[in-house]
Amino acid sequence: MRTYLYFSTVLATLACDSATPSQADVDAGPDPASERPASSENWKRDILSYDLTLDLAAKTGTVVAEVAGDESTGLSLDVGNLVVESVTDAYGNLEHIDLGSYLNIGVPRGGESRSVTITYAFTSHDNFNGWMDEQELSFLWPAFCGNLYPCNPDPADGATFTMSVTGASGTAVYPESIPGDAPSYMPAIAVGDFTEIQLGTTPAGTEVSVWYEPGQEADATAGTANLVDVFEFLETTYGPYSFGSKVGTVSADWGGGDFGGMEHHPLWHVARGSLSSEETNAHEAAHGWYGNGVRVACWEDFVLSEGVVTYMAARALEESGVDLWPQYDCELKAVCNSAENTTALLDTCGEIDLINHDLWSSSPYQKGAQYFREVAGVLGADVLDEALAEFYAANVGKAARMRSLVELLKNKGSSSEIEALTVAWLETEACPASATLLCP
Ligand SMILES: [Zn+2]
Repeated sequence: MRTYLYFSTVLATLACDSATPSQADVDAGPDPASERPASSENWKRDILSYDLTLDLAAKTGTVVAEVAGDESTGLSLDVGNLVVESVTDAYGNLEHIDLGSYLNIGVPRGGESRSVTITYAFTSHDNFNGWMDEQELSFLWPAFCGNLYPCNPDPADGATFTMSVTGASGTAVYPESIPGDAPSYMPAIAVGDFTEIQLGTTPAGTEVSVWYEPGQEADATAGTANLVDVFEFLETTYGPYSFGSKVGTVSADWGGGDFGGMEHHPLWHVARGSLSSEETNAHEAAHGWYGNGVRVACWEDFVLSEGVVTYMAARALEESGVDLWPQYDCELKAVCNSAENTTALLDTCGEIDLINHDLWSSSPYQKGAQYFREVAGVLGADVLDEALAEFYAANVGKAARMRSLVELLKNKGSSSEIEALTVAWLETEACPASATLLCP
């Protein structure tokens, strides 16, 4: 609509002053919005937002992606095993080619953002790589978004989301809006026979809840006993939460022996086997600040997500009288004494496939947590909190590198000591000698 107005303004200008059209008018040319450029590959085009409409019964979806204006007319999106039916904008079909796992689209040139609408069909998956009929939930981390919606799986590309889900066989718990820029694995849906406990509201106005399935009330209550206080601590210590005003834990049935959680903010998933764990609930909540609020620029920076939030969970629960360090110490020792041990921070960027790389281990979690514990020992826990808040304020909604955080920490004092800790805990494969003294 705006471009039509622009076009008629140009015509009016030409009509009034046709003898001497300005250079700008001549260069304006035909309405760029109605051009149908050929499809081409471009993974760098910034996607500003995704509006997802999913029908879980029919297994169909529509995504409206708002893409930034760009000199390039290319747009590439991962489409996993989706069956793409149409690719359009306000003017009709867009040129596109489906290359199997990804789609190249031609998008009109221009400085303004463009809405690209794609309709498609999706299928059920069974290996934590898309929508899963059996578990009745989605799982897209780290790079499986394309099995549920056309997306850019690069963690550096953040976008806001709106979601609408129909066709669920039970209660579908999902966020209708994710108002802050988030990585493409973040939107999630869980369907079940859910009961919500409203745990409380923080002073910042954030409502915290837990959703559990039949038989899980005791676990849900135990695991979230301090969750409102944890969330308040995170908000007051590290800065305002960016993903909305209603948050909480959703019990996720990941199958037998399941444990852990997934940082689907604002409604993060916690496996049934970890629902009673205060540590897991606090950990997933803390990802609202690091991992999701501040995204990793590449998977090599995984410790900027997992190391920071493993520390933050202990820091936040400590305020409620819960000491996670004995548990962490033993988890670290187990990592150090196993083949799982690996260097926690790599110096490349964008070159690894995380889930098929050694870095996908407990090392970035446990070495990262101990690193920040020792940094707190050098700088003081309050100074470390201030540094994490400063880094969050500077990078929320953006992608960042772990080394940038290290440089900020070094600027807080004791630079050579911080650098030595960074090398010992994060950039060396062997665990520091001090690790052997933990977990007696
Ligand atoms: Zn985590």
